[in-house]
Amino acid sequence: MPKKAASPRPAASGRDKQMEQLVSSFFQLIGEDGSREGLVETPARVRLAVEEIFSGYRQDPKKILKTFTEDVCKEMVILKDCEFYSTCEHHLFPFFGRISVAYLPNRRIVGISKLARLVDCFARRLQIQERMTAQIADAIMDVLDARGVYVMCEATHFCMTSRGIRKQNASMVTSAIRGEFEKKESLRLEFLAAVTGSISGK
Ligand code: ZN
Repeated sequence: MPKKAASPRPAASGRDKQMEQLVSSFFQLIGEDGSREGLVETPARVRLAVEEIFSGYRQDPKKILKTFTEDVCKEMVILKDCEFYSTCEHHLFPFFGRISVAYLPNRRIVGISKLARLVDCFARRLQIQERMTAQIADAIMDVLDARGVYVMCEATHFCMTSRGIRKQNASMVTSAIRGEFEKKESLRLEFLAAVTGSISGK
């Protein structure tokens, strides 16, 4: 006998129940029967998924970016091809892709995994790609007091591939450039040389 998948944990709070009721109402509105076997546990599953997908609202970029002083490193630090998953605020559809982040330290640096967590902190909210890209750059400028930041993001949007204009292969590229990167082309070229070929088209 195939093992039955574990049931999602039951609603613990009034907020949990409200979330599940919303999903049940949605079934009704699209003409589904929420009592059929395949859908009975879906509201609880959706609630758990929603908790994870929107966990960014409970995170504080300042707490994520724990910095430490390091006088030696003055050169560009790059987090390359960090995957992210976000939700388009116009359609509540996913958009996802990769992000590369570079900063020029100003005596303070941060663990590279913290940069990845910062990406998730902003990705796991209702977003538009342009704003998410800018928020990541601004948080690094702000918390690290960096000399410059360059963030580049490439993403596929489900609201564009699955509905509307239905372009399967189109992706969107956004960037945010701050500080010394704005002034010096050589820095921008150094960043682009490091990430190009990875962020778009492998
Ligand atoms: Zn959209």
